[in-house]
Amino acid sequence: MYHDVVENGEFESSGFPGEGANVYKLRREDFERHLDAIQAAVPKGAIATISPEQQAIRPEVYLTFDDGGASAFHPIGGLLEARGWRGHFFITTDCIGKPGFLSADQIRDLYLRGHAIGSHSHTHPVRMAALSRTELDEEWRRSRGILSDILRVDVNLASVPGGYYSLEVGKSAEAARIQALFTSEPTMEVDVLSGCLVIGRYVIQRGMGPEWSAGFAARRRQFRWRQTLLWKAKHVAKRLGGAGYLKVRQAMLEK
Ligand SMILES: [Zn+2]
Repeated sequence: MYHDVVENGEFESSGFPGEGANVYKLRREDFERHLDAIQAAVPKGAIATISPEQQAIRPEVYLTFDDGGASAFHPIGGLLEARGWRGHFFITTDCIGKPGFLSADQIRDLYLRGHAIGSHSHTHPVRMAALSRTELDEEWRRSRGILSDILRVDVNLASVPGGYYSLEVGKSAEAARIQALFTSEPTMEVDVLSGCLVIGRYVIQRGMGPEWSAGFAARRRQFRWRQTLLWKAKHVAKRLGGAGYLKVRQAMLEK
């Protein structure tokens, strides 16, 4: 799970502003090192896009990019294509056309170039799992509708904003006819709701070296376990509240 990739260290140029969002953004030169490392770590042809209508995941690697920042169009799309790869771009539809975000034309262009496009909710709520069922349904329904209109196909992919997944979030996505929902839980297990696959992801943040991307893509245990342990610690810390959570978050950033 990536977010934005920026040129010249201009972290505010793409995606959501502020340091909280910027820690998920990579510099272009770093991102290219990550892609090189992935390429060296996985078999040729391993990088793919998902086909949820087949109701099964193929044993491949999916590269995903959250938020719908302008960097999806440039440089991310071209950098992937130069390697013969395609990505998954999850769009916050209320941000389409705003400064730092993709336009409708750019989204359509990425889709026509073979990238997978999905919803990242309409408004990117701070705590998705805290919404009422009616609010959740509206987030998915509106977002999916806007993207389906732009692409003139049924958009059936999504990722959960902020990583706040709950069963209710999944059920709501499923009711909105989303067939594959990506979370931020670092797991290779896939849950199957009746009509929707719920798929974990491993996050890449600024400061994590290319060995992390390569390690996740090659399913290396030492990398996956480390993120899983941090994820669990983070959840405990979140429950304990403020200071503990920030400490764990800082520890993650220093990795
Ligand atoms: Zn997001």
